[in-house]
This record gives sequence, structure tokens and C-alpha cells, in this order.
Amino acid sequence: MSRQVKRLPEQESKLYSNSMSECIFCGIVSGEIPARKVLESDSCLAFLDIFPANRGHTLVIPKIHVADIHGAETNTYSTVAAMAKDVADLLTTKLSSDGISIFQMNREAGWQTVFHLHMHVIPRWKNDLLHKPWDIAPASEESLTEVLQQIKK
Ligand code: AMP
Ligand code: ZN
Repeated sequence: MSRQVKRLPEQESKLYSNSMSECIFCGIVSGEIPARKVLESDSCLAFLDIFPANRGHTLVIPKIHVADIHGAETNTYSTVAAMAKDVADLLTTKLSSDGISIFQMNREAGWQTVFHLHMHVIPRWKNDLLHKPWDIAPASEESLTEVLQQIKK
């Protein structure tokens, strides 16, 4: 079965689906789609992102297909996070990065484009060209109280 590997912005949501049979990352786990592996365990795989935000940008995935954080067992998520920590240590040591940023997108609204759970481990250097994806502004006391009430209700 042929798989579309390149990401085209307008067609992103059509290229990637929740189904394991059409999943690019399941294809990488099975070996059907090539990947540059950084680390591997029984349950997880880390490989270089082919559209890197920075040098050494690595993705960490569980070998089983789960779409996102909500579809993952806590243990599955924990093993991915543990490998992300190992990758962060490895990249920092080997690439002499000054820092690491970790992102984990969930669902379209959360900027996820490949619907197989993954963590981005991105080496950072002082004065690199990445930007924070949000602007900071202080919240009002009322809005913090209101949202906390809703969360804890
Ligand atoms: P996200 O937008 O958080 O869902 O991240 C998906 C990531 O997968 C993007 O950063 C893509 O560059 C990356 N990606 C897509 N296809 C491949 C592939 N075949 N090998 C490695 N990385 C990929
Ligand atoms: Zn998958």
C-alpha cells in the first residue's frame, strides 16, 4: 500500500487519519516507511523529524497506535515521556545544545497533524530562530478564579 509521506499544508487533515492502516508512524514502526532512528525500546521509537524545526529535532512515539494523549493509557504516555527524557539528554550531550523544548500536540485544535501520539524533542541554542508560540499577558483574578472553579466543579 502506498503512503503519502510528504506533508502538504492544505491537505494535512486529509493525509493523516486516526486509522492505523493509513498511519505514517505505524508505517515507520513496521519498517514500511524509512526513518532515521535515534533510540528504540520494546515499546517506543525515536527518529528524526524530516521537517525539523531545528537541527536534531526528534520525534518519540509509542509503537502501538494511539491517536493522542486521550487515547493513551497512562503507562503508554509514561514510556513515551521517559524516552523523550533520554532523547533530550542524548541530544544535549551529543549536539551540545544550550536547551531543549518539548512539544506534544493533541488534535487539530492543538496543532496535531499526524494522529499517532508523539512528542517533539527540539534542541535549542541561544539566539536560535524559534519563537514561543504564544504571547504572554497577565490574567485577571476573576478569570483565574472562574476557570479554576469550572475545572474543579
Ligand atoms: P505534529 O504536527 O505535532 O502532529 O507533528 C507531526 C510531525 O511529523 C511534523 O513535525 C512532521 O514534520 C513530522 N513528519 C511527518 N512525516 C514524517 C516522516 N515520514 N518522518 C519523520 N517525520 C515526519
Ligand atoms: Zn499509528
